[in-house]
Amino acid sequence: PVLADQIAAGEVVERPASVIKELVENSIDAKSTQIDINVKDAGLNSMQVVDDGIGIENDDIKLAFKRHATSKINNPQDLFKVHSLGFRGEALPSIASVSDVQLKTSTGDEGTKLHIRGSKIESIMPSESRRGTSITVSDLFYNTPARLKYMKSLQTELAKITDIVDRLAIGHPNIAFSLVHNNRELIRTSGRNNLQQVIGDIYGARNLKRVIKINNQDDDFKINGYISLPELTRASRNYVTIILNGRYVKNYNIFKALTDGYGSKLMVGRYPIVTLNINLDPTLIDVNVHPTKQTVRISKEEQLCNLISKTVYDAIFPQNL
Ligand code: ADP
Ligand code: MG
Repeated sequence: PVLADQIAAGEVVERPASVIKELVENSIDAKSTQIDINVKDAGLNSMQVVDDGIGIENDDIKLAFKRHATSKINNPQDLFKVHSLGFRGEALPSIASVSDVQLKTSTGDEGTKLHIRGSKIESIMPSESRRGTSITVSDLFYNTPARLKYMKSLQTELAKITDIVDRLAIGHPNIAFSLVHNNRELIRTSGRNNLQQVIGDIYGARNLKRVIKINNQDDDFKINGYISLPELTRASRNYVTIILNGRYVKNYNIFKALTDGYGSKLMVGRYPIVTLNINLDPTLIDVNVHPTKQTVRISKEEQLCNLISKTVYDAIFPQNL
């Protein structure tokens, strides 16, 4: 089982940022209202995620570290209507197979503390009982030196962490996020469910006046979010965040549809700041394409892309309405 977990880790846990993504998505699935992330040395030293979510039942703690044990879907049909961010039951066992994990969790009554290193349970004992879960991952890739060798500079690894936390915070304005790196606070959002405010928290308050709200729908899709006016563009495409039923995804066709909506207003190599929420019937999405769940297949994708381009175009060129 250790070997299988390590093989799965090869796909799910590429770098510190992937650990953060999986832990935070678990906290989101656990209905947390506050998620605090504390990272040392770009995660290569340690990463801690503390949430105030539902916690893990005593009997389920060991199970959570077994492969394909997920509390989130119960039968094969559920796979076609996934509402949670996780469903593969791979992240925790994968992470624990290539690192040192300290978990503290409580559903509100008695709490439990678990220490697991390289898939081996070192200790499990009762602990304090504040509701929620705290997971600390250290010594990432200590037993897979080939993987460790592929880590980039601390600066690059940290940039990947802030990037993923930015997008998770943008995707969940109703959750208060904080990210602290080597005792310095890099990200803080209020959790007051104000997307425009979160965009300001992430991209800088002075940019707030240069984003406009979009909102549209057709028979299958509801879209809403904020897009920047053409004068606010960046030299990187990293400021475009596409969120499908609450899940941050990467999708080139949607990205293209968005930028197409700007017509000739975008200079070559410049990209807008966009947060686009797309909501649709979960049976129209296949999330089970890749272990990281960032690639998805959407039925009626062309119809969706047309809706997006048109909505962006009408917002940017309102005189044509
Ligand atoms: P998945 O998210 O695909 O179900 P994971 O390996 O990420 O699988 O997590 C395994 C299980 O552990 C989850 O199904 C959930 O029951 C539990 N779990 C993990 N993290 C948390 C958390 N922060 N709060 C509550 N439960 C959690
Ligand atoms: Mg998960």
